Amino acid sequence: MPDRKKLLIVEDNEINRALLVGVLSSEYDIYEAGNGEEALKLLEEHSEEISLILLDIIMPVMDGYTFLSIVKKNPRLYSIPVIVTTQNDAEADEVTALSHGATDFISKPYKPKVILHRVASIIRLRETAAMVNLFKYDRLTGLFSKEYFFTKGRELLQQNPTKEYVLVCSDIENFKLTNDAFGTQECDRFLKGVADICRGLLDKHGIMGRFYADQFVCLAELGHFDYQVFDQIVEEVNSFSQIKNISMKFGVYIIDDRSVSIEQMCDRALLAADGIKGHYGQNYAVYDDVLRGRLIREQAITDSMESALASGQFDIHLQPKYRVADGALSGAEALVRWNHPQWGMQYPNDFISLFEKNGFITTLDAFVWERACQIMHKWDEEGRKPLSISVNVSRADAYKARLPELLKEIVDRHGLHPERLHLEITESAYTENPAQIIETVSRLRELGFIIEMDDFGSGYSSLNMLNELPIDILKLDMRFIQSDEHKLSKEGILNFIMGLASWMNLGVVAEGVENERQVERLRELGCDYVQGYYYARPMPLEDFERIILNDNKAKAAEPQVNLT
Ligand code: C2E
Ligand code: MG
Ligand code: MG
Repeated sequence: MPDRKKLLIVEDNEINRALLVGVLSSEYDIYEAGNGEEALKLLEEHSEEISLILLDIIMPVMDGYTFLSIVKKNPRLYSIPVIVTTQNDAEADEVTALSHGATDFISKPYKPKVILHRVASIIRLRETAAMVNLFKYDRLTGLFSKEYFFTKGRELLQQNPTKEYVLVCSDIENFKLTNDAFGTQECDRFLKGVADICRGLLDKHGIMGRFYADQFVCLAELGHFDYQVFDQIVEEVNSFSQIKNISMKFGVYIIDDRSVSIEQMCDRALLAADGIKGHYGQNYAVYDDVLRGRLIREQAITDSMESALASGQFDIHLQPKYRVADGALSGAEALVRWNHPQWGMQYPNDFISLFEKNGFITTLDAFVWERACQIMHKWDEEGRKPLSISVNVSRADAYKARLPELLKEIVDRHGLHPERLHLEITESAYTENPAQIIETVSRLRELGFIIEMDDFGSGYSSLNMLNELPIDILKLDMRFIQSDEHKLSKEGILNFIMGLASWMNLGVVAEGVENERQVERLRELGCDYVQGYYYARPMPLEDFERIILNDNKAKAAEPQVNLT
């Protein structure tokens, strides 16, 4: 039977799944998945073939709503219709499903004929022009949708082979936070306003589209384009709405090579915009050779990372941590280093964010945790003081549901109590996805791990949220300690944080301590632990072990090491 359409059934209950397969396999070929995560994996390969998805909501590992929200954000997947299966009469479920972007729902117990009809008519609908038309325009702003923008852009370039064009993408910094703070309605109104402003100023000689929430894109004739337009847009955007201090960044790609696909052109423009996030006062950046160089380098890193790990190029350095009260060595932070045979020593800032993007961070972090535990085990065997080691846990790891089991298995294997391994999770990870992080971290804490909130003060946790978080220690962002030590007002902030920490029963580590003055201030304020170049830089294991020996010998109140 040629040309049978394909469906994906996502359902954890085997009986229900078998029922649906029984009903639908007479007409369709069927892919099956037991939860959202499996379904996403399947879609990675087969998204083109699948005409419709039948989705259960309550499932382990990844539930239907999470799955839906991921699918609806993915430009390759969002137009695949999704029918949600709900319990009989659960109207609330049905409404929620529709509001999450489901096309329709069917309720249990299943009625085979109804199901067959619904599936057939929705597939037909999707294929008709009417439905396609719906996907041409972004419903909120009326601009082109992503796919349609690509189609129209390709057409425009093909029809005007001699005209010069420029592609501009824009992105709003921390828009998710704005969304949380002002609510969806206000933000939708805001985005509509931004679209109007951009349309007015940009697309007179081109076309415009909206990608995800806050990403706008425009293909315009170079001859009619003026960089000053960005200042104008930023000014107007900041004055029309009650949402203030919006930082909008523009990336520009000048189309000089038509063999590059329009999707790639957009990626490049976005990359340029990304590069100036956090640069105050700079509205736009042009994609150029510097960025191209960065991409090539990233590719080289990606190509060599696995063999580098296998051949022992990665190792950890340890940076000592001291107790302020008596100056005793209290532990270390493990910081990964990559000793590359050609490039020399590579530091985390050169590769961690890339590994977070390409997924390798999970492997590398597991290696670091393993190595830290090996070292503590060795110290125990040698009868040394049972120091603890803090390791960094990337946000990518923290979102993994199996993280607690994995970490427990590692400490168990080395005969260590979990409290020896401190886990540093950055504050920003908590603010991105609070519910999921809180759940995973709570389980880690129940298992006995000590949880440190890294770079506290650099993110945006509210006091309210802080109170709910399962943490033991605040690790202050080094900018707090370093930013203008002489200003009394900053002392006020530090003072306030110390008070907060003691009220919440949290220990405090100050990192990035670089001079005596800072130490004194931290001591006065009652900070518990310090770490920083003033005491020692991160160092190889052999050097750190020498520090342990000195610490044992001297046991003095003042730090004896200063390896800077
Ligand atoms: P972090 O966890 O906040 O680590 C502190 C960073 O500050 C380290 O940089 C350390 O060398 C540096 N530092 C320590 N004392 C001072 C000081 O007194 N002054 C100044 N200016 N800097 C100081 P490093 O090793 O380059 O690591 C940078 C970041 O990379 C880390 O920030 C952490 O977020 C990440 N990272 C490092 N190792 C790992 C790892 O194994 N896994 C993951 N996921 N992330 C890691
Ligand atoms: Mg850290
Ligand atoms: Mg830190």
